[in-house]
Amino acid sequence: MDRVLEQIIRRRALDRCEYCRMPEAASDLKHVLDHVIARQHGGRAQATNLALCCGRCNQFKGPNLAGIDPQTHQMSRLFHPRRDVWTEHFRYEEAVLIGLTPVGRATIATLGINLPIRVAVRQALIDTGNSF
Ligand SMILES: [Zn+2]
Repeated sequence: MDRVLEQIIRRRALDRCEYCRMPEAASDLKHVLDHVIARQHGGRAQATNLALCCGRCNQFKGPNLAGIDPQTHQMSRLFHPRRDVWTEHFRYEEAVLIGLTPVGRATIATLGINLPIRVAVRQALIDTGNSF
């Protein structure tokens, strides 16, 4: 990966995961550059297809492009950080991320964003003055 491109992506994301908004400084794993559309699906390593992603979201996302909305049980595409507006699909209630749309809910479910350990970590960060 081009170092200049990586710096551009990191700055653009303000060093936060573009899915769950975890700050890199508060994470035990280094944030990585996610191919929003995975390479195996033809996604390219360019700014319009790259997003800063925490290690947890990246592990769960893998090459997935879609997931199941747990509310409707229908398939939905995942959140696309370059094309979608985060606040249209998500909002935090304390440490729990709420999906406002099928895209938001499918993304939360597929990426394991509200797994109990991840909620506990965010709550500990909130308790020490961080916000999401
Ligand atoms: Zn994340």
